[in-house]
Amino acid sequence: MANILGTQERPLRVAIVGSGPSGFYAAEALFRSNKNVVVNMVERLPAPYGLVRYGVAPDHQKIKNVIKIYEKTAQNPNFYFLGNVSVGKDVTVEELRLFYDAIVFAYGAEHDRRLGIPGEDLSGSHTATELVGWYNGHPDYCERTFDFSQKVAVVIGQGNVAIDVCRILCKTIDELKDTDIAQHALEALAQSKIEAVHMIGRRGPAQTAFTPVEIREFGELADCDPVVVPQDLELNAASSKELADPQNAKFKKNFDILQQFASRGLGHAGQKRKKLFIHFLRSPLALIGNDRVEKVLLEKNRLVGESSSQKAQGIGEKVELACGLFFRSVGYHGVAMAAVPFEESKGIIPNRGGRIFNGQMMVLGLYAVGWIKRGPTGVIGTNKPDSDETVKHIWEDAPILIPCPRPDTRFLLELLHQKKVRVVNFSDWKKIDAAEIERGKIAEKPREKFVTIREMFSALDG
Ligand code: NAP
Repeated sequence: MANILGTQERPLRVAIVGSGPSGFYAAEALFRSNKNVVVNMVERLPAPYGLVRYGVAPDHQKIKNVIKIYEKTAQNPNFYFLGNVSVGKDVTVEELRLFYDAIVFAYGAEHDRRLGIPGEDLSGSHTATELVGWYNGHPDYCERTFDFSQKVAVVIGQGNVAIDVCRILCKTIDELKDTDIAQHALEALAQSKIEAVHMIGRRGPAQTAFTPVEIREFGELADCDPVVVPQDLELNAASSKELADPQNAKFKKNFDILQQFASRGLGHAGQKRKKLFIHFLRSPLALIGNDRVEKVLLEKNRLVGESSSQKAQGIGEKVELACGLFFRSVGYHGVAMAAVPFEESKGIIPNRGGRIFNGQMMVLGLYAVGWIKRGPTGVIGTNKPDSDETVKHIWEDAPILIPCPRPDTRFLLELLHQKKVRVVNFSDWKKIDAAEIERGKIAEKPREKFVTIREMFSALDG
């Protein structure tokens, strides 16, 4: 019996938990094998696409075109979408094992890293995830509020998420109004009094985590100038060596763009209303304020260590920066799933090439892809080879996988029905999708997202 999975007589049954890019690339790779495989994608929200829908910035619509590829995968007759089903809550991993021969975890890394500094939880201090989820209409964040009556915002971190946060804060409403930004966000940002955004990196201008396309955009905004102090671009010997290395072309490009910004100076003609100040070699020590954040205490850093592995080290000199809004954007951390091994320090499921391990023991039938496999790094396309690797290992293992005892999606649907879980299938999602696109037409937006699950169900129920 054990060696029939993936054949005409008995398809390999795979559950993919999560419907973001890594999950869809895993589904696509499974179908590409031309073996007999059934893929069921289980998603906590009624809407698919994870970070493409809820993470990619609304003013970066082109990046979202990748959804067309995922839709093609979803049209495979052996694909079934189970939206609004939370694994670990509505159905356990042990229960999924009854209906699937293999389970692929593709649920990303949804928690923010903390800074661990005093005052981090003061009112006015937020995570980048909150703001990103809020402007992207994520049901978990649609109720959040941000005090845009403040004039100064600080963003800690210099990755692409920090860039997104800064750009949304710096853009005019005209630059945002025809995107798929949530209407509540557009209305709140229209009242924004923010004049200065400070993006603060703990290391230097040669170690920035963002990508050139993203930083370059700040030179082209309608009403915001990027400000870089020329002295801040002075490099130590190790950093100069890093930039001279052709393997560090991305960092060199970033540095060149920062130099262009610095050369503009503050007094150039046609100054714009808002400023994005880009700072280096500063770490936050504390947030200070009575009822709410009023300033951030920063320590100046120097870089220590060998070229390409330099770290920030405080030099004891402290500076204060007044601000009324504070965002930390210092990366994400994965969360554990009940009954699945977890490596807390890295926030990932321990795995070797996507095969999940419990210590030295491989857990047969359990796999990981994407951020929960490798940590929160890379762009959307990085997930394709990552998922391919895991799927290759699934097929290698297929002859030894234990066939599940109840190999039919109907059994899972019955279980969910008994538990009173309303499952959103792909054609339900397409109805929600069509309703969002229709709503968007009035305001000439690509779509007007439903920002609560209740609204999505209302759209389905007519
Ligand atoms: P990231 O790229 O890892 O950047 C994290 C930033 O936080 C770095 O500047 C890091 O500095 C800094 N940091 C970490 N711990 C810190 C601390 N304790 N104090 C001060 N600074 C600290 O993470 P991300 O921005 O969250 O992005 C996650 C992934 O999504 C990335 O691969 C990113 O490229 C991708 N993404 C891509 C796009 C796009 O393509 N447009 C958009 C959004 C996100 P160090 O370098 O010193 O560690």
